[in-house]
Amino acid sequence: MVTSFIEALSRLPGIELLDGKQAATAYGQDTGGCRRLPAGAIAVNTAGTIREILALANMHKTPLWPISGGRNFGYGTSLPVDSRSFILDLSRLRGVQIDADSCTALIEPGVTQADLHAAIERSGVRLLVPTTGVGPNGSILGNALDGGYGLTPVADHFEAVCEFEGFWGNGTPFRHVYQEMACSEMAKRWTQGIGASWAGLLRQGSFGVVTRARVQLARVPEATRILVFEWKSDEALEASQAALSALTEDIPGIGGIIMMNDARVLSTQLDAPLASPLKGDARVAYLSQLARERKVSPWTGLGTLYGSRDAVAGSVRDVRRRLKHCTVWSFSPAQIRLLQKTLHHLPKWGFSALRRHFGSLVNTLGTVEGYPIVAFLKIAYALDPSVKTLTVAAHPAKDGVGILWYAPLLPFTAGDVKRYRRVMSDCLGTNGFDPLLAVTSRSSRALSGTIPILFDRSNPVEVERAHHCYRELVKVGLANGWPPYRIGVNYMDLVACRADSSNAKLQRLLKQALDGNGIVASGRYAHQSPEAGLARQALSDVLAPVDH
Ligand SMILES: Cc1cc2nc3c(=O)[nH]c(=O)nc-3n(C[C@H](O)[C@H](O)[C@H](O)COP(=O)(O)OP(=O)(O)OC[C@H]3O[C@@H](n4cnc5c(N)ncnc54)[C@H](O)[C@@H]3O)c2cc1C
Repeated sequence: MVTSFIEALSRLPGIELLDGKQAATAYGQDTGGCRRLPAGAIAVNTAGTIREILALANMHKTPLWPISGGRNFGYGTSLPVDSRSFILDLSRLRGVQIDADSCTALIEPGVTQADLHAAIERSGVRLLVPTTGVGPNGSILGNALDGGYGLTPVADHFEAVCEFEGFWGNGTPFRHVYQEMACSEMAKRWTQGIGASWAGLLRQGSFGVVTRARVQLARVPEATRILVFEWKSDEALEASQAALSALTEDIPGIGGIIMMNDARVLSTQLDAPLASPLKGDARVAYLSQLARERKVSPWTGLGTLYGSRDAVAGSVRDVRRRLKHCTVWSFSPAQIRLLQKTLHHLPKWGFSALRRHFGSLVNTLGTVEGYPIVAFLKIAYALDPSVKTLTVAAHPAKDGVGILWYAPLLPFTAGDVKRYRRVMSDCLGTNGFDPLLAVTSRSSRALSGTIPILFDRSNPVEVERAHHCYRELVKVGLANGWPPYRIGVNYMDLVACRADSSNAKLQRLLKQALDGNGIVASGRYAHQSPEAGLARQALSDVLAPVDH
């Protein structure tokens, strides 16, 4: 089957074809040490060929794993769930057009944060790039389709996409309903369209390939502020949660607030304290001592405010007035730029708070001003003392770095934050990993935890230990009622519902209708293993009643 698929593809212009061995070299490295190598890869040079590739894949019953950037670090990088898949690499498609009137960008899959930033600059319109920690080379579309988020005004990047264009797995095209009604201007401005909306099927879905999308971009607001929070104890952090949740609801211009423990802050510092060879209790004591010496608070928060001048100034006052148990610092971009120029002229004996937050402030400036920076990738290199500053060429997977992201959702309550801290620290500690904890506000009701598992990818024992720890974290999180918002290709089984559950049945029905041959993203967020072949089972079976 694979041989005949390759033969058929080899006659297709506008692509570069890689066999299994070549694909393993080009796409095989994963920061998580996953070895789900693809059967081959198709790098697409012209968007026009995608329809034909899909037709051939259907004819030869060969699954495709679409990637837009292939930088899904911590979640599988470029690798598929199902090793029978050919990677469909769309990263070479980098067309981008800014529409000044609607403040949107029409993008092809390979458009990166840097491409979008350059296009915005060229257009002269003052718009923000929806940046993430992955930096300038991160794909805008790939991040959105995997449910990614940032600290920008539209934090959830999938929600910023107002139009999708592409093909369901069976080759049927899709586009916004208002395009088909010849009301294209409203398609740019009204994501929902009219009637039932199918766009949600593309979020973490396995039904279609997106070939073009339109992204709504936030205008550069009149004013922005960066907030820094410091909590002197775990208890103080917990006591602030109710007020933070209420503030998140009351202040429309507040972006996500990320709250990090001291070990997490140390993990981003230039001299790589986590590279210490110490283990166990000695390591815990060393990191606590270091945090005290460097005056890193037990918990540090970073937040952003966007809006009109008076709204932002009032919001800063409201945050200070209502948030007890912590110190709040507020900086405008102009102040940070001034600090950049003057910090080394300030006397060495003072300004310690400014000095310890200076790096984060400069990095967050990129977020509020909407340009991508590479510095947030530093955490991936935290075990390597030789890495000081990163260039845009940084690629954690190809650089041999070991990082897995565990990202559970939890209720925005003091009790859950307290339990999260204890439960996750225990699980990480038992497995011999540093508790690099953070929670970010995703709404006034939900927090998203992010925990990196950092490990030596060149050591198979360490890789195994990291995989084991990841599974333990997911299980212990689920046992506490905290499901991941996103998960890596190696761990889909951990979030799969039973094959006879209502969600699994619906997924099979949709798969049957839109991608009957199981071509697109086989196994991605699947409620059953792809090899089971149940996607092809008769509809009557699927519809049969279930005993409860
Ligand atoms: C240090 C560090 C910091 C990070 N910070 C962040 C962060 O702040 N926010 C965040 O969200 N993530 C973050 N990440 C995780 C990840 O690297 C990013 O989310 C990254 O943007 C995902 O890779 P990509 O954009 O290249 O997507 P891709 O790998 O191209 O796509 C992701 C998935 O989406 C699907 N897909 C992609 N394109 C298509 C298409 N055209 N049609 C159909 N399906 C498609 C595929 O299944 C694919 O596996 C971080 C990682 C690291 C190591």
